[in-house]
Amino acid sequence: MGEYFFGLSEEQAILQDAARKFARSEILPRAAALDESADFPADLIRDAAKLGLQNLLMPGDLGGSELSSLAAVLVIEELAYACAGVTTSIVVNDLALLPILFGATPEQRKSFIEPIVSKQKLASFCLTEPGAGSDVAGMQSRLEKVDGGYTLNGAKQWITNGGKADQFTVFATLDPALKHKGICCVVVPSDAKGVSTGHHENKLGQRCSNTVSVHFENVFVPESALIGGEGSGFKLAMKTLDASRPMTAAIAVGIAQRAYDEAVAYAKERKQFGTPIAGFQAIQFMLADAITEIEAARLLTYRSSWVHDQGQRNSLESSMAKRFAADCAMKITTDAVQIFGGYGYTKEYPVEKLMRDAKLMQIYEGTSQIQRLVIARDILQ
Ligand SMILES: Cc1cc2nc3c(=O)[nH]c(=O)nc-3n(C[C@H](O)[C@H](O)[C@H](O)COP(=O)(O)OP(=O)(O)OC[C@H]3O[C@@H](n4cnc5c(N)ncnc54)[C@H](O)[C@@H]3O)c2cc1C
Repeated sequence: MGEYFFGLSEEQAILQDAARKFARSEILPRAAALDESADFPADLIRDAAKLGLQNLLMPGDLGGSELSSLAAVLVIEELAYACAGVTTSIVVNDLALLPILFGATPEQRKSFIEPIVSKQKLASFCLTEPGAGSDVAGMQSRLEKVDGGYTLNGAKQWITNGGKADQFTVFATLDPALKHKGICCVVVPSDAKGVSTGHHENKLGQRCSNTVSVHFENVFVPESALIGGEGSGFKLAMKTLDASRPMTAAIAVGIAQRAYDEAVAYAKERKQFGTPIAGFQAIQFMLADAITEIEAARLLTYRSSWVHDQGQRNSLESSMAKRFAADCAMKITTDAVQIFGGYGYTKEYPVEKLMRDAKLMQIYEGTSQIQRLVIARDILQ
């Protein structure tokens, strides 16, 4: 099955170590302040890019790190241990560029991937709409054929890095009645005429990752910016989500591991009834369950990456990993707050932030309910 079940290769361990060092020395000390201010961590993202810790799956000849999915999740888990908000904003470049990687011609890859990756710019993935979240095929954003290309009209909602991006990967339909068969993928520069963005959402968690609505009003899209042909957008989006779900699962694993580590340290130090609370079975059982579930989530995540790396479809494995890791992160961070007692409920300690950050993992890139739908469809087909 591969050596990851029993240990990492030397190369993987070196990469993991580099990501850990950057995360713990650069990201972690600033996580609480970034959470409070909700300021966008542009400098941290640029530094991560310079170290090869962004654009992880992008080809080397286009400036990317060209990592396997398994190597990428090792990096992402480390970054998320320090701050999930910063990590989401780092990882979304891969999400936005994957549909291009999967569907574009060599010329399009050069035009739309290389300038973003090699110049440390940002790209956003524009799928969700105000009226169409889980129901992707229900999208209303329209592409109308005109001379030399298309006119794009519509609105996208909850777009990560949308207010900071130089380029949008946009999904829109030629005709909503065609449902998934009408959806196309186009690339739109953020400074194109008719593009505007809304305010940065004041979120519960992952507050420093930029989240905005993006609006397209009579935006001209040249034919050369259509990725993969008319009607291939839905398939490209689904293939992209299959590839990115292990990375999202890895963010959840990173959050859960951090909450566990914080809880263990606190439980050993905090005394009640004359003894460290780690001596109480009630606390021990929460910690025992947490570490067991983290290990299970990590193995599901690694395996879903490994399946992808074998060139096989990993919809089932990546949905299982994302669902399980997200739900574990929510439970384990909530238990960590419990172990910290009243102190855990304050911003003096990191666990309440972890709990708020974890909640998003059950929502974005397909909610935990939608992952179950994907799993059920796969096993019952
Ligand atoms: C901070 C943040 C960042 C995001 N970043 C991006 C991004 O960069 N790009 C992008 O395109 N999108 C992004 N999203 C959007 C995200 O993927 C959607 O919010 C998510 O897919 C859910 O869609 P929705 O919010 O419209 O909820 P809805 O689809 O309205 O769902 C509401 C509830 O109903 C449940 N539900 C819906 N349908 C079913 C069903 N058939 N069976 C059972 N339950 C169901 C859901 O599970 C959920 O609990 C982001 C969201 C957030 C909050």
